[in-house]
Amino acid sequence: MGIATEESAGQPAEPSVPGVSEGSAGAAASPGAGEAAAVGAPAEAAAGERVRVPARPAALSPSRAADFMRCPLLYRFRVIDKLPEKPSAAATRGTVVHAVLERLFDAPAAERTPPRAKGLVPGEWEKLLAARPELAGLFTGEDGAHDADRLATWLADAERLVERWFTLEDPTRLEPADRELYVETVIEGAGASALTLRGFIDRVDVAPSGDVRIVDYKTGKAPAPQFRSEALFQMTFYALVLWRLRGRVPRRLQLVYLGSGDVLTYDPVEAELLAVERKLRALWEAIELATDTGEWRPRPTKLCGWCDHQAVCPEFGGTPPPYPLPIVAPRAGG
Ligand code: SF4
Repeated sequence: MGIATEESAGQPAEPSVPGVSEGSAGAAASPGAGEAAAVGAPAEAAAGERVRVPARPAALSPSRAADFMRCPLLYRFRVIDKLPEKPSAAATRGTVVHAVLERLFDAPAAERTPPRAKGLVPGEWEKLLAARPELAGLFTGEDGAHDADRLATWLADAERLVERWFTLEDPTRLEPADRELYVETVIEGAGASALTLRGFIDRVDVAPSGDVRIVDYKTGKAPAPQFRSEALFQMTFYALVLWRLRGRVPRRLQLVYLGSGDVLTYDPVEAELLAVERKLRALWEAIELATDTGEWRPRPTKLCGWCDHQAVCPEFGGTPPPYPLPIVAPRAGG
């Protein structure tokens, strides 16, 4: 079954950029911390500073699974070493827009209007800034002064994305069953240990018939058809988890691209979700093997241009930090 384009504003599509165009609710957070994909929560230092404790991977989210498929070394840097990454204006805007679309449903249906939604943008930004003061640096000039113009432009861009949503969906006619839903399930018998799958689903709609629709907002543009597999993988991941949790295959997966005004839908069937489960089991086995051997290969692609870790990547002349976990299995051929 192919993914279908329901609506297109005709803008040129482009491949999604990890952590930038996805705009997921957790996108502005550091990957290692935001998705809690490893055992051992970051400890608090005496001075209150956040300390990142290296730990074995304990779970898979769609983003981290995609990281491993894209570049195993990137996965290591994010999940095991938990190397810090610079916040980006685009990902932070995605977080704000997601918060607005979630909060809007607190209002009675008739009051879910574009002006109300746009009016939520500054407040959601202020809330995010209060939780993560370092984001102020996104709007600080080279002289260290606050750049009010840059912030105003950024907020206006966020408002435009929110406004575009109303051309794609009508929130006065929607009553989501869940918003920003945390899901987690355990797949037994994957590798040496059970595999925990987890993530956040932007919205779950349930029809009177019981049919389930999973909705994900993207603040970037819809990818060209040849680049849709990653977005589709994320959605089938969520469909698998929800199926395992609720015993019913979601009827529809829906991606709402606010950057380009596109809605892509996909209707999964059980056999496809079983194939996704097999793929995730194989992926987890590969991750466990790399964890045990310490062998995390770099896989350079054009997406390296967006990688924060070039300075410690052998492909760019760097040296990774010492592997922080015990080697419990020999390297292949070693
Ligand atoms: S620079 Fe490229 S090859 Fe190196 S870790 Fe980042 S994504 Fe992987």
